[in-house]
Amino acid sequence: MPTRKTVKRALIGALAACAATAAVAVLIFTGPTATFLVTAGGSAPTLAADPPVAEGVRWHDDYFAVQAIDARTFAIGAPPYPLRAMSYLIVGDDRAVLFDTGPGLRDIDGVVAALTDRPVIAAASHLHYDHVGSLDRFAAVALADVPSLRALADPKGRVVPPDDMHLGEVEAVAPEPFTVTEWWADGQRVALGGRAVEVWHTPGHTDGSMMLFDRAAGQLYTGDFIYPGNLLALFPGAHMGRYLESARRLVGRVPDGATLYPGHLDLEISPWRLQTLAPSDLRDLADALEALRDGRLDMQALMPPTWPINDRIRLIGTYRWNMAWAP
Ligand SMILES: [Zn+2]
Repeated sequence: MPTRKTVKRALIGALAACAATAAVAVLIFTGPTATFLVTAGGSAPTLAADPPVAEGVRWHDDYFAVQAIDARTFAIGAPPYPLRAMSYLIVGDDRAVLFDTGPGLRDIDGVVAALTDRPVIAAASHLHYDHVGSLDRFAAVALADVPSLRALADPKGRVVPPDDMHLGEVEAVAPEPFTVTEWWADGQRVALGGRAVEVWHTPGHTDGSMMLFDRAAGQLYTGDFIYPGNLLALFPGAHMGRYLESARRLVGRVPDGATLYPGHLDLEISPWRLQTLAPSDLRDLADALEALRDGRLDMQALMPPTWPINDRIRLIGTYRWNMAWAP
């Protein structure tokens, strides 16, 4: 019969073996190695053939689909594209903003021209490839005015997104250069004629992330800071401390009753349709990030490291020891 001591020793041995296995897996999934593994093996996405769309969604062609939010606001997506990235066209009397341009597998400017005859400025929520694909098709382009993005531009404003900010290798998408014509400061009001959007800088998902807020309409366009489904916070440039800081600031900034229009839709929900979030989802994100920082949040899954936000959103990040919380 084993003594108490040998049982204890066996348990410690088993735990050590588990820890070693886990450590190898963890090393593969996090840090610079993971970035290489993730980005080295990318291939072009497989487009879904004729995916179902909900009532109220209108196909533009066999790739783009449009859902009207109101008479002068449109959600533009590509139901066949597996990552379900979203763009939003916000039309004023004098000009329109296109917030994000998708992965560029097809050029989005044709859809935009079918929806408005106003001059359009394309604004990027951040530089990930699935949001900036057609920026080069627009004569007017806006980015968040932050040092890390400013540093990318030559004196004429020409930007070639660097690989570690663009991440296009994930789906074999090469960065296309574009020219920035406007740098938008945090809190800046962008007038569109009879309508305006506020620019909110929201570092966390990336350093140069921004949101747009139409205060009169109560519409907040969030980019990838928050979206339903698996919210990815594991890419280079993500920073948990800044994520938490931005989330807390947003909770104080967003009025109750606002509607959040996310940069991606939940990949699991069918038929394809626009999905929105609420200010309470931002509160849940802030609370979860704070609990995660303080060691009060239990993991939902180990591989990939999954942390619960609420019943619609899960954060896919790294392990706690690999997270940066200091500003
Ligand atoms: Zn992103």
